[in-house]
Amino acid sequence: MNLDYDLSIVKGIGNKTQDRLNENGIYTVKDLLFSFPKSYDIYEENPSLLRSEKSTVIKGELDSNPVFIKHRTNSNAIIFYLLCYGNRIKCIYFGGDYLRYKIYKGANIIIYGKYNSFNKEFVVSKLFESNFISRIECNYKLKDIKNYLIEKAIKDIFSNELKIEETLPNELLQKYKLYDIKNYIYLSHIPRNREDVRQVLRRRKYEEFFWYSIRLEYLKSLRAEIIKPKRIFDKEKLKSFIDSLDFKLTKDQLSVISEIEKDIKLDKPMNRLVQGDVGCGKTIISIYAAYILILSGYQAAIMVPTEILANQQFQFAREMLAKRGVIVELLTSSIKDSDKKDILYRLKNNRINLIIGTHALIEENVKFDNLGIAIIDEQHKFGVMQRQKLIDKYKYTDCLYLTATPIPRSLGLTMFGDLDISSIHTMPEGRLNTITKIVNYRAIKGLMKSISKELDKNNQIYVVTPLIDDINSLDVMDVKKAYNLFNEYFPDKKIGIVHGKLHTDEKNRVMNDFYLGKIDILVSTTVIEVGVNVKRATVIVICDANQFGLAQLHQLRGRVGRSIYQSYCILLTNDSENERLLTIESSTDGFKIAEADLKQRGPGDYLGNDQSGYVGLDYADFYEDIKIYECAKKDAYELLDKFKKKELESNIFNDIIRNEVANRNKNN
Ligand code: ADP
Ligand code: MG
Repeated sequence: MNLDYDLSIVKGIGNKTQDRLNENGIYTVKDLLFSFPKSYDIYEENPSLLRSEKSTVIKGELDSNPVFIKHRTNSNAIIFYLLCYGNRIKCIYFGGDYLRYKIYKGANIIIYGKYNSFNKEFVVSKLFESNFISRIECNYKLKDIKNYLIEKAIKDIFSNELKIEETLPNELLQKYKLYDIKNYIYLSHIPRNREDVRQVLRRRKYEEFFWYSIRLEYLKSLRAEIIKPKRIFDKEKLKSFIDSLDFKLTKDQLSVISEIEKDIKLDKPMNRLVQGDVGCGKTIISIYAAYILILSGYQAAIMVPTEILANQQFQFAREMLAKRGVIVELLTSSIKDSDKKDILYRLKNNRINLIIGTHALIEENVKFDNLGIAIIDEQHKFGVMQRQKLIDKYKYTDCLYLTATPIPRSLGLTMFGDLDISSIHTMPEGRLNTITKIVNYRAIKGLMKSISKELDKNNQIYVVTPLIDDINSLDVMDVKKAYNLFNEYFPDKKIGIVHGKLHTDEKNRVMNDFYLGKIDILVSTTVIEVGVNVKRATVIVICDANQFGLAQLHQLRGRVGRSIYQSYCILLTNDSENERLLTIESSTDGFKIAEADLKQRGPGDYLGNDQSGYVGLDYADFYEDIKIYECAKKDAYELLDKFKKKELESNIFNDIIRNEVANRNKNN
């Protein structure tokens, strides 16, 4: 069977199914073979996982009748107690009234789910029939396609003579004893057992990392050959810019800008990361760097992760630079189409010097005349390839990354390789350390008294909750509950709400009102996490703080303490002994916290959460699979080297590299 045939050739795929597969972007036999499941659910009884927060099947007997409760958000929940493996476990199941007839006192049931150690309950997601033994289910995440259809199709395809080209060099398959391509594809769709799942994932992750490394390494080698044009600028103008600031730069800020200046003068493109805690003053550094290139006759772009942040930096940059003849514009997805068209036109024709924006900047239709520097703020919020897309807009671009989430040295900068790093350790003068306190919900009255005093001083309060509305858990704080709580205590204060589900205009309006001091208390989810700057905000209350990761808590704390006023970070929780909270309470040093986070295995924030941003990395995870990555990277170096020396014949290499070159030429 020819892999390029369309799917009508496969037995069991009728017109309707074919249409639906097409809607999912699957057109050919090959497309179908390579549409792997996004994940696998392995349903196996494993009592040892009972308290581990990992999903498992358990069996047991109900020791009382279940209780049906109406949940606040109008969904139903069923609570029952199960006797199993010598334990008595509280189980909770959300929704699904049909269970009513299957569970009753004395019933023996088989359920699947996982334990939530915070709420001390087993959250049930499935009930099995009594003859259940074990099962592996593929999750395809395809719209309107049933699993059995794919299984049937794959079996039919494999019943034919097939020629599938291997996608990894042979020596690597042997080196790691990876499944060959045919086995790999077949067993990816129809794994026989847990070991098959392990093996196909092992190969998939390795393969993703391998090609990722090849691409990155190849791009790097292209960059290394670049000799950029000389940047010539008027130093006096830079000096006058610094002199016009209403503050004095700190020692560390000064040394970082001089490092940047040196990089810009070199003939190879700058590739530098500036890391420094929230509030240490990185914005001015990025604007300074942009200004150097603008003075040299180039354009500059600053990309930030949120619209709010883009707005804020835009205002600041305009205020600083417009009077120096620099044309500054803003580009986000909420800019009106007509305005956007105008901006894109002027950008392409070099009538804009500095553009500040969100992801909107990396869209295909954004073209520069001569982009001299690409600055990526809060770089860990972007995927590697997203960053690369901005950088690749112009061949000679200098790159500057900024981050408040330091990369732990122990991670060895695996991601960046040839990146130079500057660190800012000092805070601007007069800044007081934010006082951090763990407060138990029991002590909320006292807390509200202190907050009241702050509000009397005309200061503002952030309140952050882990959820917008609470659907799946009964006792986690959400935006609504927090709003009600604060409203009860401060009925005459103005309270605003922001969360990710609000329309962007509404979000911006509320944020702006808070910025202007028209709102006293801002209740929100973590949308305020990054970079926002409100000087009179002196308290941040983080509700259910134990639900957040270390890096995130540290970032949130950085919302306050951005001026001369004493600020407070309150970690509100029922879990006062939580290790992460104790770490945050005892340290304000972002570098230390980053190391602690790595040890405590917090969320994989460092390397960019946004995995979807990494082209070709759908399964592999830099944090969890770092060992696989290291092997794949090493192999990629060696093989790419052989390939370049023409010691290696490989069609795949040829194809991939040809693609990369084509892409680059398209962009430049
Ligand atoms: P971050 O490093 O988190 O991006 P910002 O650049 O937003 O920090 O700076 C936080 C605040 O500190 C801003 O209001 C900025 O104007 C101010 N700032 C920056 N550098 C200094 C300095 N050297 N002295 C006083 N204030 C400063
Ligand atoms: Mg910043």
